[in-house]
Amino acid sequence: MSEDTFMGAPRDKIDWAPTIDYTKCNYCMECVKFCPHQVYEVREAEEKRLIVKNPNNCVVFCRACGKTCGPDALSFPNKNETTKKIKEIRKEMEQSE
Ligand code: SF4
Ligand code: SF4
Repeated sequence: MSEDTFMGAPRDKIDWAPTIDYTKCNYCMECVKFCPHQVYEVREAEEKRLIVKNPNNCVVFCRACGKTCGPDALSFPNKNETTKKIKEIRKEMEQSE
């Protein structure tokens, strides 16, 4: 299925999702409200009230919710490194065909 691949590589092999810095997060939930892809999950009863539940739902190279985060608690992988890795994955796939 097309939504399971990105640039020809399986989405679940591509490491791209937000990382929450819990020393900065104030649980304002702006990122949750902003993202329509169910990447995050709110866990009201737990100490870490927000987790990245579905990292593979995150749109590769999107960083948009990071801009909604006042305390700058969200970080993302390096775009060039990720592009390089995607190309490597594709090459491995071609070689194993
Ligand atoms: S980077 Fe984009 S797709 Fe990923 S969690 Fe944030 S808003 Fe959603
Ligand atoms: S927007 Fe930032 S501070 Fe607010 S819940 Fe998300 S990660 Fe935490």
